[in-house]
Amino acid sequence: MAFFDPKAKNIANYQRSIDEKKVSVSRYYDEIGRYYYKQYKDLNVDNTKDINNRCDAITKLTNEIEELNVKILYEKGLKLCPNCRTENNLEYTFCFKCGSRFDEEAKKVAEPAPAVKAEPAKVEETPAPEAEEPAPAQEETAASDAE
Ligand SMILES: [Zn+2]
Repeated sequence: MAFFDPKAKNIANYQRSIDEKKVSVSRYYDEIGRYYYKQYKDLNVDNTKDINNRCDAITKLTNEIEELNVKILYEKGLKLCPNCRTENNLEYTFCFKCGSRFDEEAKKVAEPAPAVKAEPAKVEETPAPEAEEPAPAQEETAASDAE
């Protein structure tokens, strides 16, 4: 019964999680841009910490997305060559393209977790930075930042 194919369900769950993470990633990129612009405009502003927080969050999310992509491939009976990133059949010991050997560890990581529950994507996996610093009242309207 294709309708109840657990693989398809797992893939759908992974994909949903990936999509959510991608939304977070672009939000962080957006915020980094704002913070950077603020300190560009005003030398007294130092948003380094806020910017770094988001960079770290993006790195974390990107890694998680990568892992989810590996899981999706696994469900499809595929795995990525660690060297050239080519999709290979799970059974292959060597990459059919570049000949790299698949190490056992990579295999273990992709091991199917029995009965994967649709893990509700945790929303607060990245520390939501506290309130933005109160903007100084006086502001020369050079390029009014439209909110
Ligand atoms: Zn390869």
